[in-house]
Amino acid sequence: MQLEQIVKQFQIYGDFVEGHPYGSGHINDTYKVSVNLSGTKVNYLLQRINNAIFPNVEKLMENITRVTEHCAEKFCQMGYSDISRRCLTVVKTHSGGSFYFDHEGGYWRVYLFVEDATGFDVPETNEQIYQAGAAFARFQSMLVDIPGEPLYEIIPGFHDGKKRLAAFENALEADRFNRAANASAEIKYQLDNAWMFDVLPDLVKKGAVPIRVTHNDTKINNVLIDDKTAEGVCVIDLDTVMPGLSLYDFGDLVRTSTSPTQEDEKNIDIVGLRLDRFESLLNGFMSVGRDYLNKTEIEYLVFAGKLITMTIGMRFLTDYLSGDTYFKVHREGHNLDRCRTQYKLVQSITDQQDELESLVADTVR
Ligand code: ATP
Ligand code: MG
Ligand code: MG
Repeated sequence: MQLEQIVKQFQIYGDFVEGHPYGSGHINDTYKVSVNLSGTKVNYLLQRINNAIFPNVEKLMENITRVTEHCAEKFCQMGYSDISRRCLTVVKTHSGGSFYFDHEGGYWRVYLFVEDATGFDVPETNEQIYQAGAAFARFQSMLVDIPGEPLYEIIPGFHDGKKRLAAFENALEADRFNRAANASAEIKYQLDNAWMFDVLPDLVKKGAVPIRVTHNDTKINNVLIDDKTAEGVCVIDLDTVMPGLSLYDFGDLVRTSTSPTQEDEKNIDIVGLRLDRFESLLNGFMSVGRDYLNKTEIEYLVFAGKLITMTIGMRFLTDYLSGDTYFKVHREGHNLDRCRTQYKLVQSITDQQDELESLVADTVR
C-alpha cells in the first residue's frame, strides 16, 4: 500500500511530501514521512508493526499508549516544555484508534518524529553509555506508579530462564544435527551455570525483588541522544514494555554495552567487560536508580549482567544444536560463535566480580 494512503488515515495535517525507509531496526518496517503544513516540513515516524512477533496488536498499542501518556504527564508535572522530545507520542487515527489496519493485512502506527536526536547502534563514547543507563532508569522510575491493571504480557515467558533451560536440555538430548560434539566446552559451561536461573525467581517469590514496568529491549540504540546537549533524551521502541524485573533491563545493558565487540565477534580474545564502560553504565543507571531501586535489586546488579548474558548465550547454543531455526545465520557455526562471545563475557564478569561489586557499593555510599 502507498505510504501516502497510510498517512491519510492518521490525524496528520498537511500535504504528503515524501516517505522513506528509516533507521536500523530489525523488527518493524520503519519509515520517515514528511508533510508540508503551511510551508513547514513536519516529519513523522511511521511503522508497520511486526504482527508475527506481536500478534495482539490491540494490546500492544494499549500498553504503549498507557506508558507514553503516563510518562508525558510526569514530564509535564516536572515542568518540561519539550515533552514530545522526551517520550514517544502516538498519533491517533481519524477514528481515534492508536493503529490502522490496512486491507492487505498490515498494522500501522505513527509517532511524532523526535528531531535532532540520534540512536547509536554502537556507543561512540562512555558518556553515551552513561546517558543510556540514566535514560532507561528514568523510564523505569516514571512507571513505578502507573495506575490500573498490570500491563499486558506481550511475550509470555520472555525472561523465563527455566523454560529456556528446558528448551536447551531438550535440544541437547535430541542433538538432531550431531553438533553437540563441536560444542562440548560450551555445553559444560552452560550446565555448570544452570543454577543462575533460580536466583531471581526465588527472590521474587520471597518478595525481595518487585515486579515493575520494564522496557525489555535495552539496547543503546533504543535511546535517542540529543544532537546538541548529548543527553539521552528519549527512550524509544516500546514494543516489549511489560511487567518485568528492573534487573533484567540493567543486565541486558551490561550485555550489550560493556564489551567493545559485536555479538558475533570471532576473535574471542578481545571480548570482555571493560571496567570503564561498566562504570559509566552503572553510574548512569544509578544516578536515577538509587532513588527507586531497593537494596536487593542493587545488590544483584552485577549478577543480572551475568544472568542475562548467560541466558542469551544459552539461546544461541540451543539454536545451534537445533539447526539454526530461530536466529538468522550468515555463516557456518554463526550461532556457536555468538554463544562463545556471550559465555566469554559471563566469564569476564565473573573474573572481575570483586571490582564490579565495589563500584556498585560506591554508588550508594
Ligand atoms: P529493534 O530492532 O531495535 O527492535 P524496531 O524495528 O523495533 O527495532 P525501532 O527501534 O522502534 O524499530 O525504530 C527504528 C529506528 O527508528 C530507531 O533505531 C530510531 O533510530 C528511529 N526512531 C524510532 N522512533 C523514532 C521517533 N519517534 N523519532 C525519531 N526516530 C525514531
Ligand atoms: Mg529499536
Ligand atoms: Mg523493537
